[in-house]
Parts: sequence; structure tokens; C-alpha cells
Amino acid sequence: MSHYCPPFTPSVIDKRVSAGRFIFTELGLEKRCSTCGEFFPADTEFFFSQKSRPEGISCACKACIVEGKIKSGRRAQ
Ligand SMILES: [Zn+2]
Repeated sequence: MSHYCPPFTPSVIDKRVSAGRFIFTELGLEKRCSTCGEFFPADTEFFFSQKSRPEGISCACKACIVEGKIKSGRRAQ
């Protein structure tokens, strides 16, 4: 099973970067977890794939979801 980075559209990246939720680092695009606030590479190694979202990945990192830190919302599968 390989991880991938969702094909973000430029407008999605623009909005997220100006909102401070995405940052560009020397390693590439990173996304801020909505729960723990840490930045992780914006790919499916650190975030669950969620095709229904514009970003294509979950707003919280896998660790937070797996550990059940999300206060409201659905459980990850
Ligand atoms: Zn997190």
C-alpha cells in the first residue's frame, strides 16, 4: 500500500496557505492538523484519504483520529 499526495487544486492550496493551514517547507507541502495543531506532510501517510473534502484528506492527522481525540465528527474507518 503506497501513500500519495492528493491532487490539490491551486485555489485550494492558495486558500489554505493564506488561512495558515498549509505551509510550504523544503520538504514540500505540509498541512496543519485541526486537532493537535502540528504540521505534517499533506499526504495519506499522515492524513486519511477523504475524497468528499476539497483537500482530499482528513482535517485531523491520523494519530489524532486513531487516538479518538476528535471531539465531534465521524470516526475514521
Ligand atoms: Zn493531530
